[in-house]
Amino acid sequence: MTEIFVRQLLKRFDNGKIGVNEVSFEVNDGEFVALVGPSGCGKTTTLRLIAGLEPATSGEIRFGDRRVNDIRPRDRNVAMVFQDYAVFPHLTVSENIAYGLRARGGYTREDINGRVLKAAKMFRIDSLLKRKPRQLSGGERQRVALARAVARDADVYLFDEPLSNLDAQLRHQAREDIMMLHEQKRKPTVYVTHDQSEAMALGNRIAVMRAGKLEQIGTGQDLYSRPANLFVAFFIGAPSINLFDGMLIADGTSIYADCGVFKVLLPGSFTQKIGAHVGKPIKVGIRPEDMHVPKQAPFDVTEDNTIKGILNEIEPSATGSIAYLSTVEGDRDYVATFRIRLPASYIGKEIPLGINMEKIHLFDVESERSLLYG
Ligand code: ATP
Repeated sequence: MTEIFVRQLLKRFDNGKIGVNEVSFEVNDGEFVALVGPSGCGKTTTLRLIAGLEPATSGEIRFGDRRVNDIRPRDRNVAMVFQDYAVFPHLTVSENIAYGLRARGGYTREDINGRVLKAAKMFRIDSLLKRKPRQLSGGERQRVALARAVARDADVYLFDEPLSNLDAQLRHQAREDIMMLHEQKRKPTVYVTHDQSEAMALGNRIAVMRAGKLEQIGTGQDLYSRPANLFVAFFIGAPSINLFDGMLIADGTSIYADCGVFKVLLPGSFTQKIGAHVGKPIKVGIRPEDMHVPKQAPFDVTEDNTIKGILNEIEPSATGSIAYLSTVEGDRDYVATFRIRLPASYIGKEIPLGINMEKIHLFDVESERSLLYG
């Protein structure tokens, strides 16, 4: 049994820049954790620290009960697949796959040949064993890198954006190849990507990083339904969450979110968590699938949770359609923009948009923490 334990890991580069800032998480035996976040947030640095390619400034990395901070990369028994595949151009496919086995030693020639062939068959490159990497397509080179990782019995598997050089179709196939590798090895795996949908598709759990810090770790469902802060709420989910500036207001025992474009009654079950925030500005988050016109709504739609307005336009976008709704609240007119999937037949009509209030998100404006799940 091996787990990866990362405790208070800090990396300060020679120029003083902090790449990873007191990050702690663990990857259980057999677990696949996807590490996501925007460019420069510290994903690759975290992976390189685990692999031993960079020394940590402080903090601890353990594989099971073995502290590995001071162990050389080759003695950590880590298999790593990189974005550029890192296949050796002067070696054949077969030699590339065998490389890790030879470098580590302890394998007989027959064992190496058997493992190379088995790994090559698994990734459908057994007919290419004598070729050099320059005679391969990008997808084939990437499979060589995967075959090299699977040929070995590493304790830990690390992937650094291994699919980013592949087109969409190959990427889909390659994701399945990576899952196959993981199914077979069942070792703790960390997979770096900047693509949240890839992370959602692959990871048992997802760790979201921003500016060197770990913002939240959990299952895709956890991060989607219970984001701890505004950043995670916005980063996870496509189309992304709708966000509105608003204010928490109270009327007797009821608490409302007043966003100008709409005012909705919040569930009584929220009161304990949000009561102290009444009178303060908030950000309100609503996932596109938590808004429906009443006849489609899978939840009760009432006056208290409905936004009424005229649907002016639906604009297709890469991440889903964007609807522009003219709303009237009190004596004020607004055009509100929602990311939501609606049929074009609604254009020009007055529609009520019901909100599934149990699924609404409320964030403190200053700290950006969720009032409900932070
Ligand atoms: P990307 O998705 O763009 O690959 P990333 O999340 O993997 O980004 P890292 O490569 O880990 O980010 O970099 C984290 C931060 O540390 C960045 O601001 C980067 O500029 C900085 N950094 C990385 N390597 C070094 C280095 N050797 N010296 C100084 N700063 C570095």
